[in-house]
Order: sequence, then structure tokens, then C-alpha cells
Amino acid sequence: MTVSSINPANEETIETFEPHSGVDIDHALAKADERFAGWRLTSFKERSALLVRTADVLESKADAYGRSITLEMGKPLAQAVGEVKKCAWVCRHYAEHGEAYLADEKIRSDASSSYVRNLPLGPVLAVMPWNFPFWQVFRFAAPALMAGNVGLLKHASNVWRAALNIEEAFREAGFPEGCFQTLLIGSDKVEGVLRDRRVRAATLTGSGPAGSSVASISGEEIKPSVLELGGTDAFIVMPSADLEAAVETAIDGRTQNNGQSCIAAKRFFVHADIYDAFRDKFVEGMQALKIGDPMADDTKMGPLAMKAIRDDLASQVEKSVKAGAIPLLDTPKLPEDGYWFAPQILEAAPEHAPAYDKEMFGPVAALWKVDSLDQAISRANDSVFGLGSAIFTQENGEIDKAVRDLEAGSTFVNAKVASDPRLPFGGIKSSGYGRELAADGIRSFVNRKTVSIA
Ligand code: NAP
Repeated sequence: MTVSSINPANEETIETFEPHSGVDIDHALAKADERFAGWRLTSFKERSALLVRTADVLESKADAYGRSITLEMGKPLAQAVGEVKKCAWVCRHYAEHGEAYLADEKIRSDASSSYVRNLPLGPVLAVMPWNFPFWQVFRFAAPALMAGNVGLLKHASNVWRAALNIEEAFREAGFPEGCFQTLLIGSDKVEGVLRDRRVRAATLTGSGPAGSSVASISGEEIKPSVLELGGTDAFIVMPSADLEAAVETAIDGRTQNNGQSCIAAKRFFVHADIYDAFRDKFVEGMQALKIGDPMADDTKMGPLAMKAIRDDLASQVEKSVKAGAIPLLDTPKLPEDGYWFAPQILEAAPEHAPAYDKEMFGPVAALWKVDSLDQAISRANDSVFGLGSAIFTQENGEIDKAVRDLEAGSTFVNAKVASDPRLPFGGIKSSGYGRELAADGIRSFVNRKTVSIA
């Protein structure tokens, strides 16, 4: 059965794809296995040069790749082009620092020499989501290839053009055939690939159920895995905060990528002393966002990526309002065709409302008034997720407390949570395990071999 990419702005079919057959998959696995045998012996210098060339390709094709991303999943074009350029950055980052991140680590012992050497594992399967269709893939692929592994991508079924464009970028940069391959397969084929003895490890970015499935199969097969899953990131605003900056960041944090980001600020806890001022400015700013054609320069919000995402979000909002949450924004008239959804702020959602602790994967902010930092932290931690967190304050004591007590893989102070090739990225609790980016990311898929010479 063919798979279609649908433009979420108008529901038109952009392109259809023929999924790979069992024979195609086996061929790709054989190619990956064969390529790894030689690729693992290449020098860091060779790998680094190829990553730099990949960055060049990405930069030169950023506009074309960006357009294709916007067509397939609807984010504003400037953000899509920015995403492709960020991928060039992560390639250059690992080209420059990968060798140092993986350098032998000398350890003193009774032996005449002992050290840890980081060696590649082999073909790594990456199961990836559609929301940052380039970035999620490159933040896995750049370090994996630099470490001497080879990559197999199973991309989300609504962004297969992005998947093929990524494969093209590596090919045009000169990576040998088999270093990075796209498998055009549905999620029902992941288990077979993951259980194949030629696949040595897996990484998945996506939802909890997909993560659980890949984690349990990897566990049964005793293969290492990294999981980057959902989040309901808290955003705390204290009385000493720069209010303008806090509001601007809150709006950007909740609506970037059409609100479909794992590290979007989703639950806002604002101190009573500044609550009314924050809420009024937040409402004004969110209401003023320009929704429309994602290809247009002045658009801030395009459509959601899929009908199911839009319908799920609408149902979460409806249930939350029924449960007692107060919607603060008016709903503008939106185009009939396409998966459009107007931003919303839900105030004071009670405990049994979806907005209280469920991930809302779209431009809906949940907002509460709190009396103290302790209350904000306790509410922030009242979630199964633990991805990112942010606090706006000028008080050092409050910063220390937030860093110590917020249950999250990161705490950003006076800034929104963002991924950066130089900083480790990942979550705790149901947001996943393992880390991507920085030194941690490249060490996720290596054999840290102990060498001891008597
Ligand atoms: P999803 O449904 O889990 O899909 C992600 C990928 O997993 C797709 O390639 C999908 O393939 C595949 N998949 C789905 N079910 C699977 C299964 N049972 N076994 C194996 N593979 C499976 O997630 P999504 O709705 O596209 O993405 C949104 C979620 O991802 C949100 O929860 C978001 O927070 C999370 N996310 C997390 C991060 C992070 O870094 N922590 C970053 C971005 C997104 P098909 O498309 O073929 O179904």
C-alpha cells in the first residue's frame, strides 16, 4: 500500500511513496552491516571532513529542504529553513569536537597502562518523529557517524520526503553508500528490524507507547537504546522576573513549531504577586499571533501536522473546559481545509482535566496562579514527565532551589528550554532515558572498552 505525504495547510496530497519490501529491508541491513566493517576503520579526520561537507550541502539546500519540510508538516518556512541550518551546526560541531569527545581516557591502575577506548557498535536504528523532521535525525546521525557507527532511519510516515532528502544530503556530501540509509517502513516493521542481529542499538524520539515498545524489544534483545519521549514542561515566573522577557519567552516557547515541540513550555505557574499582569500580557500576545499560510514570511503559526493531532488536541481542550478550566482566548475564523487550530490558554485547570498533566501537543498553554516557589515546584513535579523546565527570576536562592528540586532533564533560567549541540539533551521519568548531543550524545552508542596492559 502506498504512503502519502499530505499538506496539512490544505489537505492536498503532495507525493506518494512505495514502502520498502521485506527484500528491500534485508538488502539495506546487509549493506549497513557490510559498510560498517570498513567504516569503523576510517579515521576521525575522514569522518570529520564528510560531516563538514554534509553541513555545506545542508546550508546550500536549506531553502529547498525547508520548503519541503513546511509542505509536509506545516511549520512556518523560516523555522523550517532555520532547522536545516541548525543541522549543519550539529554536523560541524561533531566534525570539530567528536575526536576529543571520544579520545582515550587514561586511568591509573596496577597495570603499566590502562585506559578506556570508545569504539563504534555497528548499525544503529533511529525511529524518528515528524515534528522536527531534520533536526531529530541529525542530532542522532552526526555523532553516530562520527563515532564510526552507521545509521538506519525509520522516519514518521508523514514525512518521507524529508527522510529521503536527509539520505540525499549524506550521499551528496560523499558518505559511502550504506553509511546512512532511509527505510521507508511503517511502525509495524520496526520490531523485525530491531530484532535483526545486524542491528546493534536503537534510538527513538516520539511518544510513550512507541518508546515502550522499542525499549521492551531492545531489552529482550539486550541492545542499548536511547529514548527521547514526550514532556509537559513547566515554566515558572516569580515576582522578581523581567515580566516583558518572561511573557515574550512564554509565547515563543508555547507556539514555536506550531506548538508541537516536546520541549515546549506547556504548564505555566505564575506567582500571585505578578499573576494578573503576566496573564493580561500573555493573553494579548497569544491572541495577536498571525495564523496562516506557513509559506508566508509574516506567519507565526501554521496548521497542525495531522488530522489526528488536531482532533486529539481539540478533544483535550473540550474535556478540560468541561472539567472547569477557563479558556482565555477567542477563537478566530480558520480555513475549512487543513488541520488548523487556534492557540488557547486554559486557566486554572483542575486535577482531573487533561490540561492538568497530559501532554498537549499543540498551541495550548495551561496557566495557574501559585503562592510560592515551593508550590510551583510541587505542581511542576506532579507529572509523569520530566523533560525540560524553565524559571524566570532574579533571585539566586530561587534559582538554586529550582535547579535542585525540579524533576527534569534540564532547567533553563530566564530563557526557554532549547536544544544546543554543545549541551546534553534528554529527560527523566516518562520523558525517556539516555542523552543526546554534546559529549554524552556521541558516547551513547559506543563500546567503552577497558584496556589494561600488564
Ligand atoms: P509517535 O507516534 O511515537 O511516532 C514517532 C515515531 O515512532 C514514528 O516514526 C512512528 O512511525 C514510530 N512509531 C509509532 N508507534 C510505534 C511502535 N509501536 N513501534 C515502533 N515505532 C513506532 O510520535 P509522534 O506523535 O509522531 O511525535 C510526537 C511525540 O514525540 C510527542 O509525544 C513528543 O513530545 C515526542 N517528541 C519527543 C522529543 C524529545 O526529544 N524528547 C522530540 C520530539 C518529539 P509511524 O509514523 O509510521 O507511525
